Order: sequence, then C-alpha cells, then structure tokens
Amino acid sequence: MEKIENYIGGELVQPASGEYFDNINPATGEVYSQIPDSDDRDVHLAADAAKAAFPAWAAMPAEQRFEILMRLVSLIERDLESLALAESIDNGKPVSLARTVDIPRAVANFRFYATAAMHLANESHDTSLPGGGKAINYTLRHPIGVAGCISPWNLPLYLFTWKIAPAIAAGCTVVAKPSEVTPMTAYLLSKLCIEAGMPAGVLNIVHGTGPKVGSAIVGHKDIKAISFTGGTKTGEEIARTAAPMFKKFSLELGGKNPNIIFADCNYEEMLATTVRSSFSNQGEICLCGSRIFVERPLYERFKQDFVERVSALKVGDPLDPATDVGAIVSRQHFDKIMSYISLAKEEGGTISTGGNAVTAETLAGYFIEPTVIEGLPHDCRTNLEEIFGPVVTIMPFDTEQEVLAYANAVRYGLSATVWTENLSRAHRISSLLESGIVWINCWLLRDLRTPFGGVKDSGLGREGGFEALRFFTEEKNVCVKL
Ligand code: NAD
Repeated sequence: MEKIENYIGGELVQPASGEYFDNINPATGEVYSQIPDSDDRDVHLAADAAKAAFPAWAAMPAEQRFEILMRLVSLIERDLESLALAESIDNGKPVSLARTVDIPRAVANFRFYATAAMHLANESHDTSLPGGGKAINYTLRHPIGVAGCISPWNLPLYLFTWKIAPAIAAGCTVVAKPSEVTPMTAYLLSKLCIEAGMPAGVLNIVHGTGPKVGSAIVGHKDIKAISFTGGTKTGEEIARTAAPMFKKFSLELGGKNPNIIFADCNYEEMLATTVRSSFSNQGEICLCGSRIFVERPLYERFKQDFVERVSALKVGDPLDPATDVGAIVSRQHFDKIMSYISLAKEEGGTISTGGNAVTAETLAGYFIEPTVIEGLPHDCRTNLEEIFGPVVTIMPFDTEQEVLAYANAVRYGLSATVWTENLSRAHRISSLLESGIVWINCWLLRDLRTPFGGVKDSGLGREGGFEALRFFTEEKNVCVKL
C-alpha cells in the first residue's frame, strides 16, 4: 500500500515517529494509502530547512523565482489527469469537477502569483518639511521569513496552492500542512517540486493531524506568519497561540451563506446556478449558499422547479463522468451532516427532497442525497450553524429589510448571492450585507485579483491579488532628509 511521505529539505522522508495512519477512500470506505503521523520533530526539521533556504530564496530576483514556479505550472498541467483522479479518490468529489475546477485552479494560483510578484511595487513619498527643505520616504517590502500554511480538505490542492503560491512568489520559504483527510495531491505536488528544480527547503510539506503538526507549526518560534483556511473553532485556537507571539495571521473560516432570490430575477439562470451553488462538491464549498431566501410571489414556483432539478441530480461513483454529487469526505463528516438533517426535522422542518443516506452495493462509502428543507424559521440552529454538506433550506420573505435581517442574523459573513434585475436594489443590498464577498446574478465567479475573505466569525484578513503578497512581506520605511 502506498505510503505518503513528508517533503523536507528537498527530499521525501518518513516521519520521525515512523508511524502512519490510514487514508480512506470515502467512496468505498476502504483504506488505500498511509499518511505519516508526523509531530513537532518533523515540524522542527521542516522549519530548520525553510530557515536555511530563506536568505538565498528571498535574495533571488523575482524573474528567477518566476521561472521555477512556471516549470511547476507546466508539470501540474502535464499531470492534470492523474492529479484530478487522485483528488477525486481522496476527497470523494466527482472527477469531472476535479478536472475542470480543482486542478486548473492550482495551475492558475501558481501562474497568477509567479507573475504578480514581478509587479509588486514599493511606494515612495516626497515630503516637504515645515521650515523648508525636503525629505524622501521610501518603503521597502521584505519577505517575512518562514511562513506556515495550513489548509482544509474540501478543495485540497486548490486551497493548498492558494496559500503556498503567494508565499513562495513573495520570497518566503514555507512549512505547509494539507488536511490529513485529503493529503494525496499535496504529496504529488512535492514530487513535482523536486522535478521542477525547486531549491531544497523552499517548500516543506509535513503531513499529519492538526493537534500534532498544525499546532506545532502555529507555535514554532521561527515561523513568522500563519495563513490558515479551515473551521472557525480551529481558527480561534490558532489565534490564541499566534497572537501573543505577535505573528501575522490570516484566517479564512466557516460560512453560512445566504442566497437571496427576488421575484424579478432572470429565472432560468438563477435556477441553474442555485442548483450549482447549493450542491457543487457535495455542498462542501465554503462559498455554497446554504440558506435560500425567496421572495414570496416566486416561492411556490421556485420550490417546485428547484426540488425537481435537485431530485434529478445523480449521486454516485465520483469516477463516473455522469455523477453530479459524489461522496462525503469522511465517515465523521457524514455523521455530522446526517445529525443536522435529524435536527432539522426535530426543529419542525419538512424535507422537500433528499434527507437520506444513499446506499447501494456499488456505493459502499459515504453518500447523502442532495437535501432541501423548508418550513424552518431563519433563527433555528439548522439555519444558524454551518453544516457544510448537500443540505439547503428554503424560506420565503416579503420585504428587502426583512431578508437583510435574516441574511445578517448569523455569526458568519463569508459570501452572499443576490438575484435581481433591479440595479439599485442590487447595489443597495450589497452594501448592507455583512459579508466579505457578494455575487450579484452569479456565483463563484472568481477573479484572482480581488480581495477574498470573510467578516465576523468567517475570518480575518484577505487573500487574493496583491493583498496576499503584502501579507507575506513586511514593510520598512526609510526616511532620507535631503
Ligand atoms: P479544520 O479546521 O478541521 O481543519 C483545517 C486544517 O487545520 C487541517 O489541515 C487540520 O489538520 C488543521 N488543524 C486542525 N486543528 C488544528 C490546530 N489546533 N492547529 C493548527 N491546525 C489545525 O477544517 P476542515 O474540517 O478541514 O475544513 C472545513 C472548514 O473549512 C469549514 O468550516 C469550511 O467553511 C472552512 N473553509 C473555509 C474556507 C474559506 O475560504 N473561508 C474555504 C474552505 C473551507
């Protein structure tokens, strides 16, 4: 059985403990590879390697870093099919999605930041002194040092590279940890880094659990910045450790996103997109709209059409090209989602479609029917807590003010979607939604230059564009009196 290895100091190595744990294919429930059970000893080795590699990497002209990153881009593109297959087996997502979204986005992340780093400019200020005379202030931007990057299981290579690419492009060296639930494509990436001639120690990947490896990264004295994506509770823990050490940190956390549909929307486009924004990747995207608010005149028509389309989605083998909804990532997460479906019933909700685990001889893993629930108030637990699965609620509303209050009633504020052809209303609502991202008449339309992140308990800081390069650099102002 294949053993995943850590990537430290340019080499693939076993964990210090010599111990491994099982990696399970969620579509079959079977163990198919072994994950290093690394600990703080491995993190120390990785941090030492990253620290040693930092001066040369930081001093290297951005053009040369660009060349190395673009070699990596070519290799990921070359291996797109095998990476997509690996992602699908590891995560349970349809291979068609991994092929068209996850792996192409990993390519885009490296390409975007390899290029962006060459355009990062420093500022200067021409200063007039009170008694006459002049000074020039100029601001230098140095890579911050060794950065720690920790990512979740829902979009494994996509989100792993979304952190690593800007860090490395900015001149930092990195100690990274992918989710222990989906480590495979990060492992394959480490092999491609070797093939691409990435200098030893620039990227180090330590596999293992959050409590052992993740917390050792966050608490390591030589790791100066932490870029984290994952759950809000983990984010709190990270902040508790990193804040008193005065580390820089960026936290991309959970969500409970509203999808607000007005009766004047472009109906067909809204309907097709709402099916996608509810159930893509089994609803395991932090940006999925899980609370659907529909203006009352449209409610019954929407409910009928939506339920019909959702019932027609094909739940099945992630490797089958016809599959729309694959497997839930793990047994633990499957149990969590099923417990929320039970809670919704206890809270008085009616299951309009779905609500059950899918079992068949050929589907031995963790499958759940896409589920639509109605009849719940906006402020019950089902509508306030993150479920992160193929489960949405639908609720009618009458006025703009009312729906804004519902949308903003949760502790989260990651993204929101609004469907209306009324331009003024679209802009008015966008400015009042407590959300880091608002999509009008679309969903998950991404431009990598835009700020990405949430408000309230959805996180702190922004990724994307030059913002991420700024995060991985430290400013120093130099004032010269002329
Ligand atoms: P998680 O918080 O359990 O784990 C995320 C990562 O943190 C994993 O690599 C894990 O091993 C590590 N980790 C766990 N405990 C740690 C600790 N004490 N110290 C350091 N690292 C630790 O999250 P998950 O279950 O993997 O992912 C699902 C969550 O991620 C959902 O809440 C989802 O909304 C969120 N998410 C957010 C975004 C975003 O951009 N805001 C994107 C994707 C997912």
